[in-house]
Amino acid sequence: MMGHTHALTGAVAWLGVAPTLAALPLLTESSRFIETGVMVHALSPAEFIAGTLICAGAAMLPDLDHPSATIAQTFGPITWGLSKAVSWLSGGHRHATHSLLFAIAVGFGAHYLANTYPIGRDVLVVLLIGLALRAIGIGVPGKKVASAMVNIGLTFGLFAVFHNENVGYAWLGVAVAVGCLVHVVGDCCTEQGCPVLWPMRQRWLLPWKIGIKTGRAFEQKFLAPVLSVVVLGLLYFRLVQL
Ligand SMILES: [Zn+2]
Repeated sequence: MMGHTHALTGAVAWLGVAPTLAALPLLTESSRFIETGVMVHALSPAEFIAGTLICAGAAMLPDLDHPSATIAQTFGPITWGLSKAVSWLSGGHRHATHSLLFAIAVGFGAHYLANTYPIGRDVLVVLLIGLALRAIGIGVPGKKVASAMVNIGLTFGLFAVFHNENVGYAWLGVAVAVGCLVHVVGDCCTEQGCPVLWPMRQRWLLPWKIGIKTGRAFEQKFLAPVLSVVVLGLLYFRLVQL
């Protein structure tokens, strides 16, 4: 699937799931979850928007195994280098990073960072906002350096706004895991499928074999606009509720 499809489905997933998670008695009343604070701060408008962007960005993470993808150029050589490393470690495109294990591991890693290392957490947050902005097409067409600059400026601007609004990141791990999972499900709808149970090699396709061909008219002319409208609509209704 194309980057923006992944990012948009990540945003839709968070907009759909976050209020439900916050409303679950399990997450608000059980002392265990209050202590770990998974969703404690999830519902201020700024946090809601931050969560949506971060989940959209996390929905791009699995494709960092593909150094020639647009997404690898988000922050110039930094993300390109990261992508090279991820590609080498994971065994190439659509291997380890397109699995359940990766989603869970990265989710726990993000949760750990959020609780323990504020600097590491901030680096991750900036990376994910940058990936989300790049995926939805923010940049200057055909100009790599200018695009990276625009993206860096916007990303840090948003990060500063979230900082001023005292956005808490107790939900970071959940948002990251949801984003990665949505990516895997999305790629399972394409012809190649994903090794969902990696390290087992078997590739999974969704049972009814939709077999979307990446980047064709259906994805560009139908899926992308529909998802964009769903994102804006959900965002509007959720913010009205807050
Ligand atoms: Zn992918």
